[in-house]
Amino acid sequence: MRSLQNESAAHCPQGCEAFDVTYWSLVRGDENEDLKAAILGGELNLVRCPECGTYFHHDGEIIYFDASSELLVFVFSPKDKPREHELKEKIDHDYQIIKNSLLKDVHLNYPPISVFGLEELQHLLHHEDEITAESEVVAAAAATQGFEVARLKPSYSREHHFPLYIPAPAGGQTANDYAVAAAKVLKSGLNSTLLLHFKDKMSEPNAQAPVLL
Ligand SMILES: [Zn+2]
Repeated sequence: MRSLQNESAAHCPQGCEAFDVTYWSLVRGDENEDLKAAILGGELNLVRCPECGTYFHHDGEIIYFDASSELLVFVFSPKDKPREHELKEKIDHDYQIIKNSLLKDVHLNYPPISVFGLEELQHLLHHEDEITAESEVVAAAAATQGFEVARLKPSYSREHHFPLYIPAPAGGQTANDYAVAAAKVLKSGLNSTLLLHFKDKMSEPNAQAPVLL
């Protein structure tokens, strides 16, 4: 399934007459770097009112999808924010449809995220980039300390605020083994709140071993 465009009526915030626009309704962030960059730059679905010249974001619903990051985001209009709880049913319904049709070729085994407005999507993607950058530093530090680097399932690491990459313990594979490996890398002087959090969670009694990719 590729990125898709849709047509709809746009409503200028100044109250001018509605006009037709073509906007992106499905963005494959993993396939279209340019569209992802447009979201990060705040330019996606930016339209100009032909009457008064005001620029604004068309607020049609968008789906953002990145298979390798296990990221499926429903972007609703900021106007829908007050009825967030009512949208839960719609999200579940849409998710089932997408899972069984649009993205049938992808094995969707993680829940969607919902945000309101392109600005929230922009912030989310910026945050994802920061997590990736910090995770790469963790991977490099782990390798420097002589560890193999393991990759966590992306949706699992997002849910638990863990890094995407972690040092793999050489011997056992229990949660505690992972905690010990993470502690060794942190002790080498690495400053990573993500790995520190991972270590703390893996040190808890009855902690489950992490979900690897
Ligand atoms: Zn206008």
